[in-house]
Amino acid sequence: PLPTVAIIGRPNVGKSTLFNRLVGKRVALVDDRPGVTRDRREGEGRLLDLKFRVMDTAGFEDQDPLSLPGRMRAQTEAAVREADVALFLIDGREGLTPLDEEIARWLRGHATPVVVAANKSEGNAGESGRLEAFSLGLGEPFALSAEHGEGLVDLFEAIRPHV
Ligand code: GDP
Ligand code: MG
Repeated sequence: PLPTVAIIGRPNVGKSTLFNRLVGKRVALVDDRPGVTRDRREGEGRLLDLKFRVMDTAGFEDQDPLSLPGRMRAQTEAAVREADVALFLIDGREGLTPLDEEIARWLRGHATPVVVAANKSEGNAGESGRLEAFSLGLGEPFALSAEHGEGLVDLFEAIRPHV
């Protein structure tokens, strides 16, 4: 079985864009029951010579993060538990939000290793957000642009020790 990478983060940080870039067209829907796997997609990701299973998640999309875990949240929880590494995206342009901090706290409660990427960092656009993200306490954040395909070597270096 392939090692597994779970992409985690608040809405709109670029999780699905990154998923699509890593997976290309090799996407498999896990289940099409509405609400069950609506946004948990998985596929075979490739990055340089690495091959891995990648999961897109949406557990923080629909609800108050402080509320009791709902179904979407439970899926994200399961994805993180199954994963060999959680790839936590923040928006480097917008910087940290309270929800990012909440997700970081939540991730720190799991055994799964976490790497942090400041997405939307094409050019140098996300540098202040990347620096801010050190405060999440999850290691050194790296710059990424899922949309423009920048920072993929740094992504490779970050996940390689875990897959
Ligand atoms: P998700 O909600 O985390 O899955 O985010 P999406 O992948 O749906 O992306 C949300 C928005 O951010 C879309 O408009 C994307 O085009 C945009 N986006 C994603 N990645 C990047 C990036 O690297 N740079 C920029 N500038 N925009 C991005
Ligand atoms: Mg998405």
